[in-house]
Parts: sequence; C-alpha cells; structure tokens
Amino acid sequence: MRKRIVAGNWKMNKTYEEAMALVSEVVNMVKDEVVGETEVVLCPPSVFLTSLKQYVPAGGRIALGAQNCHEKASGAYTGEVSAAMLQSIGVQYVILGHSERRQYFNETTAQLAEKVNAALANGLTPIFCCGESLEMHERGDYVGFVKEQITQSLFHLSPEQFASIVIAYEPIWAIGTGLTASSQQAQDMHLALRQHLASHYGDEVAQNTPILYGGSANAQNAAELFAQPDVDGGLIGGASLKSRDFTTVIKANK
Ligand code: PEP
Repeated sequence: MRKRIVAGNWKMNKTYEEAMALVSEVVNMVKDEVVGETEVVLCPPSVFLTSLKQYVPAGGRIALGAQNCHEKASGAYTGEVSAAMLQSIGVQYVILGHSERRQYFNETTAQLAEKVNAALANGLTPIFCCGESLEMHERGDYVGFVKEQITQSLFHLSPEQFASIVIAYEPIWAIGTGLTASSQQAQDMHLALRQHLASHYGDEVAQNTPILYGGSANAQNAAELFAQPDVDGGLIGGASLKSRDFTTVIKANK
C-alpha cells in the first residue's frame, strides 16, 4: 500500500517565536488527536529547520521537509542551501518545482531534474510539484502539459530511484486563491498522472507512488478530496499555518 502524506508548506511565513509555537502545537495535537498511518511533513523556511527538529519526536509520524534545495553539491552559490546540508540536519523531504519557484525564480524542467538528482543522491525524498495555469486550464490542453512536466524532470530516473518520489499535483489557479479543484477534477488528474507513470515504469511503480493534491485544500474540503482513490494526501499551504486547521486536514487523510 502506498504512503499517505500530508505536508505543510509554510512558505515565507512566521518569525522564530511564531514558528516554534506552531510546531509545538502541531506536535501536541498530532500526538493527542490523530490516529492512523498518515505521515506528516512540516516544511518551514529552512532557517527554522534545525530549531524545529528539537520539537519533533525522533522516529514518530512527523518528518521535516525543506521548500527547495540547490542542484549543485557545494560551492560559490551565495544564498543557496544544498541537499547534503539538509540531509546533515535530519531533513527527510524537499519540495521541488513549486509553481512559485518556477514563476519567481525561473526554475526550468531541466534544472528541476538536476535538483531531483541532488535530493535523491543525498537520501531526501522529493515532493515534486506539477500543475497548470488558469490560462492553460481554460484552453483545455492541461493534462498533456502536466504529464510533460513529469516526463521532463523525472523520467530519467530508474524505477528504483522513482520509488523515492512523491508527486504533488497543484493546479496553479487553485494555489492561495480559495478556488479548489473539485474532488472529481483532482481524481481525474491524479488517475491520468498515475497512468502516465504506468506507461513509463509499469503498474507497480505507478501504484506505489503517492500523488498529493495541493491548492486551497483546507479543513472544510480535505475529507472529500482525500476520499478519492488516487489522492493520497495533500500539500497544504495556507491551512498549514494554523495548528487546528492543519490537524483537521491531517485527520481527514484516512
Ligand atoms: C501550496 O502553495 O503548495 C499550496 C497548496 O498553497 P494553498 O494551500 O495556500 O493553496
């Protein structure tokens, strides 16, 4: 059975005190209120990762993720963080290819393929984001576009490497907008992506790859989205910034 995951992408939010308060609330609520198998991934700004780790019980259901890493191993890349650095402080996941990184930092599919390689080489699990713009969605040719994002950044991997990949389908028109894909729209796309994985890697890899939904998922709509057979959890932005909302989303992922 494939893993079920709820990951919180805090983006560029929270001061140190706020971040420590949020993590301790989430840790307590998850301990007291959440049953089941869902893995929870907290992705704060990287400057807080080491401090957050002190709040997260080792070997428990909560893991830490970064929001990005650089594709090179080390060197003169001022301001960047390498996959090896993240691994060395106990980070297990890294979000790659978020639409905000593609849009504001001009990340390309080729560069993302290199970032995926760097993450895997250092034992990190990439949460690889893909998704179409509103314009593309309205034109109607978006399924092929999203498949192509996956082909270009992931299909160079061996089946063994692909076993460490998590995909997050995040329609850009739904991110931070309050517009959510309907549960049927999410299911249709997740199934299409799973079939795309099967066409290249075969059924076993396709069935074992977690595909998360992201885009204005929240305490109200998560249960219906997560009930879809090909939706294996969520990548949560805004709703991960409030402990009560985030815990409700986690509990919805059965
Ligand atoms: C995201 O940025 O990954 C995201 C899903 O954001 P939101 O939940 O706020 O739409």
